[in-house]
Amino acid sequence: MTALHGSPAHKPFNLTRYFFVLSFVLMVLVAGVMTSYLRHYSNQQLIHLEKTRASSLVQVFENSLWQKFKPLTAIGGGKAELMQLADQADLRNAVVKLMRGTDVIKLKVYSLSGRTIFSSDVKQVGEDKSGNSGFLSAAAGTAVSELTHRNSFDAFEHQLADRDVISTYVPVHGPGEQIEGVLELYVDATPFVRSTAEQLRWLALAISGLLILLYLAQMLVVRFAARILDSQARQLMETNRELDTRVEERTRALSETNAQLESEIQERRGAEQRLDRLAHHDPLTGLPNRLMFMERLRASLARAARHGHRLAVLFIDLDRFKHVNDTLGHFTGDQLLIAVTARLKTSVRQGDTLARLGGDEFVCILEEINNSGAAGVAAEKLLALFREPFVINGNDLFLSASIGLSFSPDDGSDVETLVRNADIAMYQAKASGRNRSQFYSSEMSLAAEERMRIESNLRRAIAAGEIEVHFQPKVDSRSNRLIGAEALARWTCPVLGVVPPVRFIPVAEETGLIVALGDQVLEKTCRQLSRWRREGFDIPCVSVNLSVKQLERAGFSDRVQALLQEYELPPSVLELEITESVIMAVDDAFAVLDSIRQLGVGLSIDDFGTGYSSLAYLKRLPIQVLKIDRAFVIGIGESPGDEAIIRTIVALAESLGLKTVAEGVEDQAQVDFLKAEGCCTIQGYRYGRPLPAGVFANDWRQWA
Ligand code: C2E
Ligand code: MG
Ligand code: MG
Repeated sequence: MTALHGSPAHKPFNLTRYFFVLSFVLMVLVAGVMTSYLRHYSNQQLIHLEKTRASSLVQVFENSLWQKFKPLTAIGGGKAELMQLADQADLRNAVVKLMRGTDVIKLKVYSLSGRTIFSSDVKQVGEDKSGNSGFLSAAAGTAVSELTHRNSFDAFEHQLADRDVISTYVPVHGPGEQIEGVLELYVDATPFVRSTAEQLRWLALAISGLLILLYLAQMLVVRFAARILDSQARQLMETNRELDTRVEERTRALSETNAQLESEIQERRGAEQRLDRLAHHDPLTGLPNRLMFMERLRASLARAARHGHRLAVLFIDLDRFKHVNDTLGHFTGDQLLIAVTARLKTSVRQGDTLARLGGDEFVCILEEINNSGAAGVAAEKLLALFREPFVINGNDLFLSASIGLSFSPDDGSDVETLVRNADIAMYQAKASGRNRSQFYSSEMSLAAEERMRIESNLRRAIAAGEIEVHFQPKVDSRSNRLIGAEALARWTCPVLGVVPPVRFIPVAEETGLIVALGDQVLEKTCRQLSRWRREGFDIPCVSVNLSVKQLERAGFSDRVQALLQEYELPPSVLELEITESVIMAVDDAFAVLDSIRQLGVGLSIDDFGTGYSSLAYLKRLPIQVLKIDRAFVIGIGESPGDEAIIRTIVALAESLGLKTVAEGVEDQAQVDFLKAEGCCTIQGYRYGRPLPAGVFANDWRQWA
């Protein structure tokens, strides 16, 4: 491109100047060469002509004079002798006579030995010419001519000045054609040479003129062509410059686009990385999320299988975290999760994975765990992390965790099985009282499967209204009169058969189904009560069991009130049984229980003595009844400790102005003991099992 531009480093080629100089030189050369050639040619022609003429003159000489000269060739001696011997004047006259009318101006005769035997210039007679090339050539038979310019020349009769003379050596033949001597003829070529020179001058002039004309014509053509070439070059340069500018602009635009693209790519890469992080990490704790955990576990399992290692999965669930969340708020809950994460991280080895599955569930992969003892130690170490309280916003929060452990390949060799089994083991740890770790066993799976079966069937049963209510009598042991009943849920599943409450109530609690189930029991009880009342069966009071989940629901007391109104029941016929743990678990238990109590509905504490409610707490609760748990009744007559507890409960109830009901009373001895201690309301097989409404009414109508 730069070459086209004609950069300053390269001077543009000046065609005109080079052409003019070169063609001028060439023309001068041509003119010179031509002129000299012509001169040479004309001289050669002249010489040739002269040679021919000389040859014919020699013939004349041979015929007429040679016989006179021939004897002189045989004479020896010096020059003077020769001059004397030869009749020079006589010969001279004969020669002059012979040459008259020709342009020969001098004549010389040589013997074959090279001696000048005659010359029209007498001085030269006797000279030796044997070394002369012209002579030698003629002596050998070939005539030779030479043109020379003489400033002065001795001709036959007079002295000549400034002459062009042609001298020719010609062989002279005898009668037998043998060469007998050599003749040298001098011819005055001056007029001819001068006219030739004149002609040559004119010719040179004409050629020069022609060449100049040619030169001028060429000059015009070249200049014209140069101008065209110049303008084309300029156009080309212009186009090139334009092209260059466009290329530059395009390059700049391209590099700008490139930079833009680069930054876009960078941005996109960043966004992808952020998305990837989001997709694989829990935003709250920054731990790997479920997706990433599954991927890691899959990779770890493959690695472990290759190297024949065992691997442990720890399923960590915080105990009662929901309570913290509900009572202290989600913000505190989040802070607590972050703090827990930080603590858990300190105990996880490099290479092991800690992840958060969601909520308060964490999971940990322990790689290369070759004996379960080591995993157990690791789990205990994790549990120990919870001994110190977590300080959140200045509050000391005590928390514990339950951990379930499963091993690969013993408890499963795929991701899903291992995690499910660790979860089952964790569930078992919770069921066994929380704040502990539990190894998975295949029996747990059976239990878990059963729970699953119960759950799915129970869901359907509740929706279909399959849950029935049975009634168990509460009797005054002094009068044997019916003073109330407890409503108990009963379920006969078309698939599972009769499922006792101890199996389906916990499942319903765990899954939240208890809310719908409890509501169904409450409504069916109210409906039954209202029917009985219409039928004239005036049962004084029926108690219904309540779950913590029902109490937690806002508007629960409104629901109770609505049911009472709907079935036109006085509130005193309904009593709600709650366990101590329910009271402890519900955030604002006092407020909820108060609002229920406001309705006029009775409240009793179920399974009393098995929980750990404080007495001060008990005093403030709006309850009327304590139900002594069957666990103590069983001990009557056998365990003085249980009897002592019963005595204490009765005394406590009396001092607080509460009534007592004994549960699970199966024989008369128990009745007698309880009556003696002051607890006269008895519930148990001794008086009656829980019965369907129809049977219950039949059996107990007359005792009401
Ligand atoms: P609970 O409220 O303490 O009910 C008393 C349990 O003791 C009942 O068991 C009853 O059948 C049983 N029982 C009564 N007398 C005797 C006896 O003399 N000997 C023996 N061995 N057992 C006796 P059930 O019906 O199996 O209920 C178990 C638990 O399930 C109940 O304990 C209660 O906590 C829960 N439950 C039952 N129905 C409901 C319900 O509708 N809602 C809620 N939230 N829980 C319920
Ligand atoms: Mg009960
Ligand atoms: Mg009970």
